[in-house]
Amino acid sequence: MSHYASVSTPKAGSLKVPTGIFINNEWSPSSSGETFSTVNPATNKPLLDISHATKDDVDRAVKAARKAFETTWANNVTAAERGRLLFKLADLMERDTDKLAAVESLNTGKGVRMARTVDLADSIACLRYYAGLADKLHGTTIDNYAKEKFIYTIQQPIGYLSPLRADGSIPWNYPIQMWAWKIAPALAAGCCVVMKPSELTPLTALMLSDLVAEAGFPPGVFNTVPGLGATTGDAIARHDDIDKVAFTGSVLTGRKISIAAAESNLKKVTLELGGKSPIVIFDSADVEEAADWAACAIWFNSGQDCCAGSRVYVQQGAYEGFVKALKARAEATAIGQPEDEKTSFGPLISQLQRDKVLRYIDSGKAEGATVVTGGRKWAPGGEGFWIEPTILTDIKQDMTVIREEIFGPVVCVSTFDDETEGVAMANNTTYGLAAAVFTNDTRQATRVSRALNAGTVWINEYMLVDNGAPFGGFKQSGIGRELGVNGMETYMQVKAVHQNLTQTSPWPL
Ligand code: NAD
Repeated sequence: MSHYASVSTPKAGSLKVPTGIFINNEWSPSSSGETFSTVNPATNKPLLDISHATKDDVDRAVKAARKAFETTWANNVTAAERGRLLFKLADLMERDTDKLAAVESLNTGKGVRMARTVDLADSIACLRYYAGLADKLHGTTIDNYAKEKFIYTIQQPIGYLSPLRADGSIPWNYPIQMWAWKIAPALAAGCCVVMKPSELTPLTALMLSDLVAEAGFPPGVFNTVPGLGATTGDAIARHDDIDKVAFTGSVLTGRKISIAAAESNLKKVTLELGGKSPIVIFDSADVEEAADWAACAIWFNSGQDCCAGSRVYVQQGAYEGFVKALKARAEATAIGQPEDEKTSFGPLISQLQRDKVLRYIDSGKAEGATVVTGGRKWAPGGEGFWIEPTILTDIKQDMTVIREEIFGPVVCVSTFDDETEGVAMANNTTYGLAAAVFTNDTRQATRVSRALNAGTVWINEYMLVDNGAPFGGFKQSGIGRELGVNGMETYMQVKAVHQNLTQTSPWPL
């Protein structure tokens, strides 16, 4: 039975994509024979049917990972060798960039140029960052009792005791990038992985699984179990032999995963969740520059970004000029078909998501907001899930549109009088993923960046993350950090070793 099917991409022609479950470097069907289908968001036409991993399939993947961990990965493969394999995988992704970008664009609707130059390029860089870090995280020595005993710590992969770790579930907005953010630090740290891609965008994660095998990772070290959240995802979150779930997605699902983890083996959970990130623009800022960044902040990836700068607060003096400048950028956005090299703004991922965003815009209008531009569907052939770049003003801070994550191309612009008020308005949210401040006063920039409650704060820029800098949320935007050294440490556990040198036993007490 073949576990591949063809998809037709406008940029790279017909490509073969795996459709099965990847365990021990081999493809197999679902134990139930069930499949789920995946759709092209630009045409609303089905792409491929993918095997739906059952609880038994997850169990099979966990057993494979455990065996690989015990027999090879944890004990017989050095950290330097893990790094070498990750470098090799990065090279293979670079070789296949055009194919991967074509399928990523087809499955997500994002512009193929963006997929190639942002998603692929950043993911390859992420793999190389962790390939280089693989043999550079060490324990420390503690010399308080140097004469009596020697204490040192060692860093071990978190999947050592119950030998497995799973990267649970990833979302659909950056399928390749989120895949890289999870698997690179995990494999570098010496963990084995059971990966569940989003059911909406599984295709590139399946293609990448073949590259993992081609790079030479031993069977069982990396496994892919495509499936739905409530079945496959839940089976991962509840599995008693998984040591950690690293999750990126919504707050609602993050909560469910935490509960499932607590109700099973108390596995470690790191969560990268949603946001309602603020941008605070002061009178002294360059309004045109601030508008450029604010436009990227909300319309990059059609607003489907956990860091989307969806609340903008502008000091009174700059307000009018800023709204005019942002409107000009909204109307100049390169909205179009994903395969067009010029397109930077594609359709939303699904009809469900598009309709949800339209409902938010309607609720804003009903509560008194003004639509400065956008607010409508954009559907050239009558198909596809685009919504125009949208600006709302006349916002009251208790409106639904400014409190809830919309996950679409809708920005709410409000005004404030002074720094205290601007910061208070920015911090008035249950989220805390990202924030930005635009000012030409360096002392103000330092003060405000310290005062903003967010895991990432940008000063006079937005959206640019770095593989070396920790990324994650304050408040309900998450638990733990990805990227950087901190990102790899969340896949490790520290052990303190006390070695007696001269101490005599205190017995009898
Ligand atoms: P989602 O929570 O609906 O789904 C994410 C993943 O969780 C999918 O793979 C899904 O199958 C799985 N899932 C669903 N129910 C599950 C369950 N009960 N148990 C286990 N797994 C389950 O999120 P989404 O709609 O795919 O993505 C959008 C959300 O992700 C937004 O809220 C966005 O802000 C957030 N996000 C956050 C970051 C970040 O780094 N903080 C990055 C991207 C997206």
